[in-house]
Amino acid sequence: MTPLVARPAALAEARPRKLDVARIREDFPILKRLVHGKRLVYLDNAATTQKPERVIEAIGRFYRTSNANIHRGIHKLAEEATAAYEGTRKAVARLLGGADPRGVVFTRNCTEALNLVAYAWGRHNVRAGDEILVTEMEHHSNLVPWIILAKEKGAVLKHIPLREDGTLRLEALDALVTPRTKIVSVMMVSNALGTINPVGEIAAAARRVGAKVVLDAAQAIPHLHVEVGRLDFDFLAFSAHKMMGPTGVGVLYAKPDLLRSMEPFLGGGEMIREVRLDGATWNEVPHKFEAGTPNIADVVAFSSTIEYIEELGMEAVRAHEMDLTRHAMAELRKIPSIRILGPEDPARRSGVVSFVDADLHPHDLSQILDQHGVAIRAGHHCAQPAMRFFKVVATARASFYIYNDLDDIEVLVEGIRTARRCFGYDQRS
Ligand code: PMP
Repeated sequence: MTPLVARPAALAEARPRKLDVARIREDFPILKRLVHGKRLVYLDNAATTQKPERVIEAIGRFYRTSNANIHRGIHKLAEEATAAYEGTRKAVARLLGGADPRGVVFTRNCTEALNLVAYAWGRHNVRAGDEILVTEMEHHSNLVPWIILAKEKGAVLKHIPLREDGTLRLEALDALVTPRTKIVSVMMVSNALGTINPVGEIAAAARRVGAKVVLDAAQAIPHLHVEVGRLDFDFLAFSAHKMMGPTGVGVLYAKPDLLRSMEPFLGGGEMIREVRLDGATWNEVPHKFEAGTPNIADVVAFSSTIEYIEELGMEAVRAHEMDLTRHAMAELRKIPSIRILGPEDPARRSGVVSFVDADLHPHDLSQILDQHGVAIRAGHHCAQPAMRFFKVVATARASFYIYNDLDDIEVLVEGIRTARRCFGYDQRS
């Protein structure tokens, strides 16, 4: 198979290899389509990513050749389907740097994984007056489950405040973490600001009081090299669809012993060992947390995604995104009415560039960019508290992935200049 990365002759292993974007783009059929007669420039990767042919093909292949329900059947197809489904569990464990596959729970998405923790751990361990700590930049998926839990239990929800530069006010941490803190749940990387959070420092503060640490890794696993053995946490959640995998597949990772100590989340088939009319016992983990028929075909296809990412190499992915981010920020700064949210330094942020133009509403900007084939996102990015902090109702957000290149950024910036001209600004620019 043709390698997806071009290896420089010297320093091949010392530096991340450079992605061969032209070659990569060939793998994504959707990138060949036109939008309003223009080449598609897809810059909405923080919302969801496009899928390579091999992942699309894997979904079809499963239904064409091996479709059956898993774990139960004693026939060839059921055995094949089960092996493929469990094979993805092993692939996820490998991707996470040698994690224990028994700690990999498949859910529908990152949101469901975080809710699983709130319900199956939080409900049984958080009491009135206890505290849950999040950050002011959380995605609603890592905020609303804790709001619900705090309301139900009479617990107190606290947050680490934001700073103007889009980083967290860590000096507040020591005062915020108290002996009553039971859960500290933070995003590793912000989908709205691009900020990479110092989760090690936050976890260390949580450990001093024995709190559980939950990491929302939805924007981290697709973009950064993460080895769970080097990271201090109890629960880690992410979605396949944000890393070129199918929709409808999420992952919750936790140590098997922690999962064993917990009550189930949803009850039903597959998660039980034995059921009587007056009671039931639970299956071994992770099956205890996978009630009912799961999204078999998409989980199976997710292993093709993981193989694809492994071929690229996470270091190369990260280096590519940093280059794009640096370039995009430099180009956007040339338009004086634009204010970029989040850290200045591309090393402290992911490939997300969230910005506001003082003269244009993000929705108007997004609509005009769409006419140029450019897909960005305009809105609050499910991070309303962060928007409120920055005193904006919405931002425009361009987010990059492996198939984007400098030409895409040029089209974006040119589109913004056109939008400004359409609205009567910058007639000569
Ligand atoms: N957390 C973060 C940081 C996200 O960016 C997202 C998706 N935008 C989620 C959680 C939720 O992911 P999903 O919608 O796949 O459940």
